[in-house]
Amino acid sequence: MFFIKSLGTHISEHKGHKEMSLANPMVEFLDPEYVYIPLVDQNTPCEAVVQVGEQVKVGQIIAHKKSRFPLPIHASISGEIVSIDKKMWHSSGKMVPTIQIKNDFKETKVDTIKEVDVSSITKEEIIEKAKENGIVGLGGSGFPAYVKYKVSDPIDVVIINAVECEPYITIDYKLLQDRFDEVLRGLKYIMKAVDAKRGVIAIKKDKKELIEKMNLSINNEPNISVFTVKDEYPAGWEKYIVQRVTNKNYRTLPSEAGAVVNNAGTAAALAAAIERNQPLVEKMVTITGEGVKTPCNVYVKVGTAINDILDKIGGYAPNLGDAYFIAGGPMTGKSIMFDSLVVHRALSSVIVMPKEVREVNPECMGCGKCSEVCPVFLSPIVIKETLENDSVNELRTLRPDLCMECGLCSYICPSRIELTDAVTKAKQKVMVK
Ligand code: SF4
Ligand code: SF4
Repeated sequence: MFFIKSLGTHISEHKGHKEMSLANPMVEFLDPEYVYIPLVDQNTPCEAVVQVGEQVKVGQIIAHKKSRFPLPIHASISGEIVSIDKKMWHSSGKMVPTIQIKNDFKETKVDTIKEVDVSSITKEEIIEKAKENGIVGLGGSGFPAYVKYKVSDPIDVVIINAVECEPYITIDYKLLQDRFDEVLRGLKYIMKAVDAKRGVIAIKKDKKELIEKMNLSINNEPNISVFTVKDEYPAGWEKYIVQRVTNKNYRTLPSEAGAVVNNAGTAAALAAAIERNQPLVEKMVTITGEGVKTPCNVYVKVGTAINDILDKIGGYAPNLGDAYFIAGGPMTGKSIMFDSLVVHRALSSVIVMPKEVREVNPECMGCGKCSEVCPVFLSPIVIKETLENDSVNELRTLRPDLCMECGLCSYICPSRIELTDAVTKAKQKVMVK
């Protein structure tokens, strides 16, 4: 039987640093001079279907991800393709080829982007539109949404995950605050696509005002409710939320517990895809951290470079010196040393931090904190040492396959030992058949 600890770790020192980006108004930046659309999606190479010199419109398909779960990739601005191999930094921690488009600032859209009559839309049409418009999980996974909706298990509940438990990130909170109606409509489309009886919006219980506002909006929606979780990390982990909402565990997919989980941004993007045939070409991203002069949420075109966004919002903090960037949340994101990093469709935040000289003491002090915080009861340091001893059978007994890669063990370790990396490697090792 698989268990998840009922208590996570409270890391809301300074409210998890979330107040930084919430202190400033959201900025719209939809007219960058260039965008760079990555030709890699979820580590899968994509194939360009445009040529250098070609003019493209907003929403035009410019590449295809060819994999078990294929997905089109769209132009986010109108203009000229000026390169299809420019390398830019990606949240995977690698440089990837991109399609570079020079903006003609005309915002010419493909003819298919227009209001659609959705009064008699079928579940099959919802699934197809999610696919055609490139809707992916915006909680960081980037997993194609349509695949989740083509589920074969009977589904009881659709859960909108707006817990956003990692420090610094605030896009879901901002989205629910400003555009709750869109999230709600998206939730209803997902419920229809998977034949779910009820919908749940999961959020941290400290968001009292927002919860009150959402409850008012769903007053006449008997099948939709708000579900609150504690302000702790990793309360936003999918397995944790599904267990709390359904009282069931699952091994591989939430559908085994009768649930489909989508992020709040994904639901809003789906509503736009259904109602306006709008591909996923714009998104919100949190740009924050001690290294940013004006941390805030920014609404951008997919493919915008972080250095251009920073110019738009006032640049780096004064006297910053050298900086580094965390693409994604501080617990699970990747450190990147350069600002030629692009916002792809699943990237939720970029945190700019002063480069610190870390004092590393690689010796384990035996404090036991890494085991204490692990939400799935693993012993990270024991797994790390066993991995180093190269004993796969012994490693299996320690169950690294249960690791959810939450990053808590590395975060808490006073010796700053890279435990998450080690446990992830051990996980890969024992999962190889
Ligand atoms: S990353 Fe560390 S704390 Fe998180 S589940 Fe894995 S071993 Fe446990
Ligand atoms: S938290 Fe770090 S120092 Fe403490 S037991 Fe785990 S590895 Fe050792």
